[in-house]
Amino acid sequence: MAQLGNPTNTIEILNKYKFVIQKKFGQNFLIDTHVLDKIIQAADITKEDFVLEIGPGIGTLTQYLCENAKEVVAVEIDKMLIPILNDTLSEYDNVTVINSDVLKLDLTALVQERNNGQPIKVVANLPYYITTPIIMDLLERHLPLKSITVMVQKEVADRMQTGPGSKDYGALSLAVQYYAKPYIAANVPANCFMPRPNVGSAVINLALHTEAPFEVKDEKLLFRLIRASFNQRRKTLVNGLNNSAELPYTKEEIAQVLSTLGISENIRGEALTLEQFITLSNQLYVLR
Ligand code: SAM
Repeated sequence: MAQLGNPTNTIEILNKYKFVIQKKFGQNFLIDTHVLDKIIQAADITKEDFVLEIGPGIGTLTQYLCENAKEVVAVEIDKMLIPILNDTLSEYDNVTVINSDVLKLDLTALVQERNNGQPIKVVANLPYYITTPIIMDLLERHLPLKSITVMVQKEVADRMQTGPGSKDYGALSLAVQYYAKPYIAANVPANCFMPRPNVGSAVINLALHTEAPFEVKDEKLLFRLIRASFNQRRKTLVNGLNNSAELPYTKEEIAQVLSTLGISENIRGEALTLEQFITLSNQLYVLR
């Protein structure tokens, strides 16, 4: 089977199987070999790596992963793509295709069974309609992960990488940076996909922290604080946290903790760094 990463071979395989592209599954297939090389490079895939690919599509990126990794497990939701994948990946004996919604799969069990619970790499050209839920799910499950290297909407990549002071800074930035170090490896124009998406894209690499950068007394509380701060972005932090039904603290308690941290009580949540959110949450934690 020929390599798929170009328009001719992609159209040929789609025609051979009379495949109808499903917008509802976010299907935009890669047709540019430079971008495929860039993804493999950004993920630093070697013959030591066990890779989980989310949404293999017709197998374009999967072929590259099979060439470069030790083993690949590819999870695809669309059952109409399974016969195509059996065809396009027939040359490789280091790949398993699973027909499932990745959000419904027990990934912890999969990593345990297939890789003895050792850390894996996730690589994907993600379906844009569920990018954030997939990334948050991978991070919050505390799966054994080395890194996540994914193609996402450019705007989402920016949100993951940015810090305080930017309009893109928010709950996603803090959640991602709590677990990993983000790095945008490439910007990718719409003409590298078939069909073309309406937005620009980027490849982002999230290298999981091997040790927690800060000690957190209660992760749930930390993320409640972050959510409450950005739910009411225009409010001061004191009001935002006090208005949240998820949090028990009075305005006075919040203001007092802020003052012991040397932070103005008129500050908005969007001005706080991850480290400041963590200190705030550790101090509020001991009050209850
Ligand atoms: N990897 C291919 C490529 O780069 O050409 C296809 C990428 S396409 C942007 C996203 C793929 O994810 C599609 O094949 C789509 O069917 C699949 N997909 C969408 N939602 C999914 C889900 N919840 N679980 C697993 N796969 C999903």
